[in-house]
Amino acid sequence: MLLYSHYLAAGGHVSTDSRQHQPGTLFFALNGPSFRGADFAAQALAKGARHAVVDDAQLAATDPARYTFAPDPLRALQELARHHRQQCAIPVLAITGSNGKTTTKELLTAVLAQQFRVLATVGNFNNHIGVPLTLLRLRPGEHEFAVIEMGANHQREIAAYCEWAQPTHGLITNIGKAHLEGFGGPEGVAKGKGELFDYLAHDRGVVFVNTLDPKLPGLAAAVPTRLTYPGPDDTYPVTLLATEPTLALRLPDGTDVAVQLTGDYNFPNLAAAAAVGLHFNIPPQKIAAALAHYNPQNNRSQLLRTPHNELLLDAYNANPSSMAAAVRSFAARPVAAGQTKLVVLGDMFELGEDSALEHQQLGQLLARLPLPTILLIGSEMAAAASAADHIQYFATKAEAAEWLRQHPVRGQQVLVKGSRGMALETLVELL
Ligand code: ATP
Ligand code: MG
Repeated sequence: MLLYSHYLAAGGHVSTDSRQHQPGTLFFALNGPSFRGADFAAQALAKGARHAVVDDAQLAATDPARYTFAPDPLRALQELARHHRQQCAIPVLAITGSNGKTTTKELLTAVLAQQFRVLATVGNFNNHIGVPLTLLRLRPGEHEFAVIEMGANHQREIAAYCEWAQPTHGLITNIGKAHLEGFGGPEGVAKGKGELFDYLAHDRGVVFVNTLDPKLPGLAAAVPTRLTYPGPDDTYPVTLLATEPTLALRLPDGTDVAVQLTGDYNFPNLAAAAAVGLHFNIPPQKIAAALAHYNPQNNRSQLLRTPHNELLLDAYNANPSSMAAAVRSFAARPVAAGQTKLVVLGDMFELGEDSALEHQQLGQLLARLPLPTILLIGSEMAAAASAADHIQYFATKAEAAEWLRQHPVRGQQVLVKGSRGMALETLVELL
């Protein structure tokens, strides 16, 4: 593979963003919705790239020493990643699922790092570009383990990612209601995420099965090696000991661990990390230490104390399952004397034709929960607003901000959650 020699000559560094400084990289001129990557190849070379892969045959012909022609540079990047992965004979654990992928990935990376040199997906680089870029960061001889997050909102995506990453182990966090639009409904979500287990069935890998999710054992049935968690009869039983003020759990050998995460929905994420760690023979004490040390970032289930309130900032994203889990868990939180509760929720995106119904159902759930003040924000939330009289509705974030300025929130427990596009963290300064 000619490209592979360019990649090795570039020290194994690739880039796709011509604006960044790129000393000696192999640049892939990927096309965007409104631009041609090849138009930026010269800029990348000027910024230090060693070689550029372009879909412009004429340009490539002008300077064959610096350009390689590929009819589809994205496909070339993915193929290169697949080839490179094959040079590294290490365990690769792929994680997909509707909710909790990044949290689980970070938890189990922390656990595995106790014993292995681990390469893991950075942040949320989990798509058709992020997965190959992650694989291309693998260094044979240096990394002993790879943890690859795979996100998907359509059928056949995970199957493709598996062809590149060739996972030896797989974990599906759960099958929920996320990206209903692209997957074609809830059954479509199960099928799409199940492509990870299908791949491992075919190639005789190992899967970790969360038995709290009724859909997962069925999806795993064809895989020869199934390791289950966290139920008492499972391979790796893990017990939830407490949820307040943060979660505490017991590992199978009796080791107890208090973590810094809130929300009972994080229990399966923690249990998954423990199960993987135990399977790879990491001592329970070390697993406990890694879990206890983990501190969530990026507005995911962060417990913040502002000068005025106790804030549960979960503004990173939202879909019907994570929203229901978050509001239920928030409603169940004990309050200190004199404290009340406020929830501030924004639109859930990407629900397609189910959107109105899902928002309506959220409204009904909110109406049933002991939540005295509820602010709903965004056009989709209009469908939830009429479920109860104590729900206040704002079409825009600006209107909600104005209301918060006029009604300062003091001494409350506040939950903030919405889809990424809503960026509700910008309201935090008012809370
Ligand atoms: P993305 O699709 O953006 O990659 P993700 O699957 O990586 O999301 P995380 O980033 O780990 O998910 O978590 C996002 C939010 O999902 C959390 O802030 C929390 O509200 C919710 N969440 C996390 N784990 C679970 C779970 N096991 N079940 C339901 N909701 C969860
Ligand atoms: Mg993620």
